[in-house]
Amino acid sequence: MSVNRLKAFQFPCRDDNYGVILHDPQSGLTISIDAPEQEAIADVLESKNYRLTHILTTHHHGDHVEGNAGLKAQHDCQIIGPVEEQSRIPGIDKAVGHGDSFELEGHRVEVIGTPGHTLGQIAYHFPDQCMAFCADALFALGCGRIFEGDAEMMFTALNRLASLPDDTKIYAGHEYTLANAKFALSVDPNNEVLVTRAREIEHLRDDGKPTLPTTLEVEKQTNPFLRAGDPAIRQHLGMESASDLAVFTEIRARKDRF
Ligand SMILES: [Zn+2]
Repeated sequence: MSVNRLKAFQFPCRDDNYGVILHDPQSGLTISIDAPEQEAIADVLESKNYRLTHILTTHHHGDHVEGNAGLKAQHDCQIIGPVEEQSRIPGIDKAVGHGDSFELEGHRVEVIGTPGHTLGQIAYHFPDQCMAFCADALFALGCGRIFEGDAEMMFTALNRLASLPDDTKIYAGHEYTLANAKFALSVDPNNEVLVTRAREIEHLRDDGKPTLPTTLEVEKQTNPFLRAGDPAIRQHLGMESASDLAVFTEIRARKDRF
């Protein structure tokens, strides 16, 4: 059975968040990935004449759930969110956790547990669309700040995401890429692919354009948080014989101080 392509609309909101609306013209399925800002999302829905059918919540932070209650009141949409944070997700109807999968109008969705930033954060993978919505776990050239979990949790979360197909489009919750690029260059200065990408990112941001979505393939080549095993990074850090987890932990600690 072939599945329709979902149309994806990404738009900036709040200070540096991204909203994403997915739409299937055939079934009318319309999904908001998180609800960072009710008004910005309502504007997109209105301009396209869509009725919101679902919100897929990744984690409980206010800049990801602010619009849940208002959009549910407007559209009577179903809200799906992380089982381990369900008491903190406004309007949640269905709780899901790592390893769960479900279908929305024939579109398969796989749930990947990505704790670390918060204890219950999840990502949503749409395998038939080659898309993953990673919120504040995996960013372009970065990873989420560890607020509730520890480095080992985040390392495990990123390894789960890194095991998706290389051509997976990675959507993230924030436009942090320019600052992330500067940090990435500080630990991986001789990576030519990274140097070139950092230049491209500067141009994109100068023109006010988004640097997301990215792809897993590009992240594996340039994102230091996915490259703890890389010999050049290890040498730069003086950690040639350390475990991948120890190298990741050091990179995360350096980013916190950067
Ligand atoms: Zn967050």
